[in-house]
Amino acid sequence: MTRYSKIDLHTHSNKSDGELSPNDLVTKASNNGIQMLALTDHDTVSGLNDAKKAAVEENISLINGVELSTQWDNKTIHIVGLNIEAKNILIIKACKKLKVLRKDRAKKISHRLSKVGIRGAYEYTKKLAVNGNITRFHFAQFLIEKNYAKNQSDVFKNYLVKSKPGYVSADWPNLNETINLINTIGGVAVIAHPLRYKITATKLCKLIDEFKECGGKAIEVITSHNISKEITTASNYAKKYNLAASIGSDFHNESVSWNRLGGLPLLPESLVPVWKLWNKNN
Ligand code: AMP
Ligand code: MN
Ligand code: MN
Ligand code: MN
Repeated sequence: MTRYSKIDLHTHSNKSDGELSPNDLVTKASNNGIQMLALTDHDTVSGLNDAKKAAVEENISLINGVELSTQWDNKTIHIVGLNIEAKNILIIKACKKLKVLRKDRAKKISHRLSKVGIRGAYEYTKKLAVNGNITRFHFAQFLIEKNYAKNQSDVFKNYLVKSKPGYVSADWPNLNETINLINTIGGVAVIAHPLRYKITATKLCKLIDEFKECGGKAIEVITSHNISKEITTASNYAKKYNLAASIGSDFHNESVSWNRLGGLPLLPESLVPVWKLWNKNN
């Protein structure tokens, strides 16, 4: 019988590009058997208060999280901060800046799309992003809705990526700044979905080296639509670099079947689970 993990430390609500409100996300996670959940919205902590309240009601453990966009070697790398102080002024200020960056980028993306005759993207995505944190996921929804693309993967092949319409180079804070921030607010920095960056193994090793030098402590080993070969690869990175291991579905919505809440395999027992790092300090 397959055993599923009761822990999910990477999820999104409608405060960024997820479908459910923080409250509904927590309820759904609980109904699906999750006992420890982290809400990790892109560049915002605004859902954590509601999620906490819901978690108390549902009697599950809610870990304060965030997924921060960073720039490294001309690539966007996502760093998840777990067990952070959600009310710390430093994270609130950083998120405020990121929100402005997102808004400016969204306007530029929309402008680029208009050059190939696709109009009204900014107005549409602004409405979709209820909290004002506009992501490329919202642009993908727009392009699908307007029949410019069949599905998400079609969008990220033909639009919004390098040398395609709607591409805008990002200007996120650097890795060091981001990891410092997470450490300063009591959190653990985690490399999100390490095998999804379309970089060579050599480059990934360079990224992990720098991540460690900056004070990063963990790496996601179980992520959405992992196949067992990828779990082995990511586990080997965790071991080689002496990093704790995290597990998270990257849940956004129900229609994406590969990252449903509560369907992840267990973390390999040979690894140090990331929650050991914060339990030590408590
Ligand atoms: P952003 O942070 O605004 O650049 O948007 C990144 C988001 O777009 C991710 O968190 C995903 O939700 C979505 N995304 C990026 N690449 C893909 C992809 N290849 N397939 C599906 N969704 C993607
Ligand atoms: Mn997303
Ligand atoms: Mn991500
Ligand atoms: Mn994510």
